[in-house]
Amino acid sequence: MTSANPFLKQANLIDGQWVQADSGATFDVINPANGKVIGNVPESGAAETRRAIEAAHAAFASWKRTSAAHRAGLMRKLHDLILANQEDLAKLLTLEQGKPIAEARGEVGMSAAYILWYAEEARRVYGDTIPSSWADRRMMVIKEPVGVIAAITPWNFPSSMLARKIGPALATGCTAVVKPAEATPYSGLAWGLLCEQAGIPAGVINIVTGTPAPIGGEMTGNPLVRKITFTGSTGTGKILLRQAADTVKKVSMELGGNAPFIVFDDADLDRAVDGAMAAKYRNAGQTCVCTNRFYVQAGIYDAFVERLTDMSAKLTVGDGMEAGVVQGPIINEMQIGKIEELVSDAVGKGGRVTVGGNRHKLGGTFYEPTVIADASADMRIAREEVFGPVAPVFKFDSEEEAVAAANATEYGLACYFYTRDLGRTYRVMEGLKYGLIGVNEGVITAVEAPFGGLKESGLGKEGGHQGIEEYLDSKYVCIGGL
Ligand code: ADP
Repeated sequence: MTSANPFLKQANLIDGQWVQADSGATFDVINPANGKVIGNVPESGAAETRRAIEAAHAAFASWKRTSAAHRAGLMRKLHDLILANQEDLAKLLTLEQGKPIAEARGEVGMSAAYILWYAEEARRVYGDTIPSSWADRRMMVIKEPVGVIAAITPWNFPSSMLARKIGPALATGCTAVVKPAEATPYSGLAWGLLCEQAGIPAGVINIVTGTPAPIGGEMTGNPLVRKITFTGSTGTGKILLRQAADTVKKVSMELGGNAPFIVFDDADLDRAVDGAMAAKYRNAGQTCVCTNRFYVQAGIYDAFVERLTDMSAKLTVGDGMEAGVVQGPIINEMQIGKIEELVSDAVGKGGRVTVGGNRHKLGGTFYEPTVIADASADMRIAREEVFGPVAPVFKFDSEEEAVAAANATEYGLACYFYTRDLGRTYRVMEGLKYGLIGVNEGVITAVEAPFGGLKESGLGKEGGHQGIEEYLDSKYVCIGGL
């Protein structure tokens, strides 16, 4: 069944050629739902990455000269192809990543939406003319593509995280070298096939799979690369930032989160619990915007915990390919090990498990949807991202206390709060130090809106009209002697 998927490519794409690693070495890709090997992909390193960068650099010379309308046309084809193949792409995604097929279809749909958004934005890259302070001179700002960009993406959204990087690269006339995560290379490689089918020239998008450190070292060290765009952990982001400093590259970083979800006494409880379920359990809790900490006001605390517990107990866990499953496996043993550690630490410090708390009886890397009441600030889960289906619920009394607790982290990606009080909405919105704020909403990502974190959650934005700026250089030009 897997080999029948027309998007399963098992080679690097460099300069329009599908090639193996120089050494011929490969590594296995595992289906997290059953532990079986799906196939294997090239174990590449610095040398293959360098060639991909050189190919991207060569392709940039002509690609940057194409018109925005031309590139937008190709991107519309790419968008249509993604939607025409949504089912195959979604199956490939679930196979390697584990998320329920409905969520995979949604992610592939988001990928198409990002490509369309950037196809539209391609035609709106405006410069400026500036009223001159000299009678004989004219002043302007022109925009140009930065050049070769290098993109590194994680396993939790292996398709759409690339759409956010390939989209603005294509739109502006940049070329790219892409490294998907080891756990989920197929959804990344599928982009190569899609770009080929859409008629995007050889060398514009290059994809390399393999060992992260040498590939990342080449991407950050090579002076031909002018921008690094990364989505992943804060730890890896800091390494890449340091490495990119030597050649002063532009950087965009979408890093970790520690999302708080605050429920005030005056909230609509039904709405809050629905939002909590979506903000916690999507992708089995493995997203950087998933709620990590629930803060619930004392007057509504017991009712909220009860409802969240009841709804969590009803979630169907299993292989994402099976109908009715809403929570798939955890990506691998390492991640489930971290979840177990954080849960056991919380329980050891007085956390009260009201549902779940263990590996699921299905075995493998399945974990039970879990709610931990009586959570406290000394627990590791208050500070560390659990990246799993575990919901610790903290109790608070005052608004000030909730905002202070929510902000007591080095992260600043997504946060959520529920209230029906207008004044409080403004106070809390302005008080929370986060790049993404959901008010009475648990899922807020949209192609039209800028996605990006504050503090140690990142640098730069993806999506919205802001997203394209990160791929452009601006040049001030002064013409004299007129
Ligand atoms: P997580 O696996 O927790 O999402 P990582 O930051 O480890 O976070 O992984 C995100 C991406 O970064 C993956 O594609 C991974 O291969 C890559 N990566 C990890 N370490 C490095 C590194 N030293 N240099 C370049 N890329 C790296």
